[in-house]
Amino acid sequence: MDKKLVSIRGAVTADNTVNDITGAVRLLVRTLYFKNALRNDDVVNITVSATDDITAFHPARVIRECGFAVPLFSCVEPNIDGGLKGCIRIMITAYSDNPVRNIYLRGARALRPDISGTYAIALDGPSGAGKSTVAKIVAKKLGITYLDTGALYRALGLKTLSCGVSIKDAAKVEECLSSAEVIIEYRDGAQHVILDGEDVSGRIRTPEVSMAASAVSAIPYVRQKLLSLQREISKTSNVILDGRDIGTVVLPDAEFKYFLTASPEVRAKRRYDELAAKGESVTFDSVLADVNERDKNDSTRAVAPLKQAVDAVSIVSDDISAEAVADRIVRDVTECL
Ligand code: C5P
Repeated sequence: MDKKLVSIRGAVTADNTVNDITGAVRLLVRTLYFKNALRNDDVVNITVSATDDITAFHPARVIRECGFAVPLFSCVEPNIDGGLKGCIRIMITAYSDNPVRNIYLRGARALRPDISGTYAIALDGPSGAGKSTVAKIVAKKLGITYLDTGALYRALGLKTLSCGVSIKDAAKVEECLSSAEVIIEYRDGAQHVILDGEDVSGRIRTPEVSMAASAVSAIPYVRQKLLSLQREISKTSNVILDGRDIGTVVLPDAEFKYFLTASPEVRAKRRYDELAAKGESVTFDSVLADVNERDKNDSTRAVAPLKQAVDAVSIVSDDISAEAVADRIVRDVTECL
């Protein structure tokens, strides 16, 4: 696709101190570049404006000192009664073939409630990378809703097993699932999956259901059936969704995207410990084989394969605790709000 000349807007608020102005401008420029997949070669110029109460440091100087070697222009905004104070705006003119993502951070989110109402965190990655543990900690710390999307696929995997049809027969699976009703409920802060009126939250956690979920999740009908349920929840509240295609398909406009991975051995060990703690009789080798097979299924399927979104931050969790990964995400979010 040919690149077009585009204008990308962004704004952030800052306290009138050198540190805060520097941090706010760096955050805004970094986010604008990252979310719009910009390279310096594509950028024609950057215009910076600030309200007249920003006097401690020159916002444009922050950009220059960050090493953005592009023409910069800066100006002071008119002082309008009732206008947002301590506000720094940026406009980047660039050649791009991506959809424009304007970014409004911290207090400046109020300027564009149409695009900054609620926020979503997309957390994707292979099974056993620690997504659900991380997501639960993040949801608790930020006081937002957590949706474990794997549980939805597991519910439909369970239903398919109960129909007794071959999981490889997409038409039969579709027939079995056409009347299936999956509902998410939250009780005491925990997610419950209701399948046709029955709470199946416990029954969907077996290795057999894991494999069934992975198999049915490759069927386009299944993915379509669960799409609106996943999107609906993010329209009304701040959310963190974990899954395989959240940043690429379900919520491509999510404000924060992460791709969490770990080596197959580390992931299998975590899964093995989890199952062993529940008294399941499994061997490490069988869990590792399942992990490898699900990785293969999830990343090679034609529809919505497991894939890192171009604007997702990659985190390898082999040697990092779930708590530390969650802290990193919480820090990113609070820095922007
Ligand atoms: O994350 P969890 O292991 O519970 O997911 C079960 C299965 O559901 C995965 O192996 C994957 O095949 C599928 N899934 C998916 N897309 C998602 C979440 C889960 O395909 N967003």
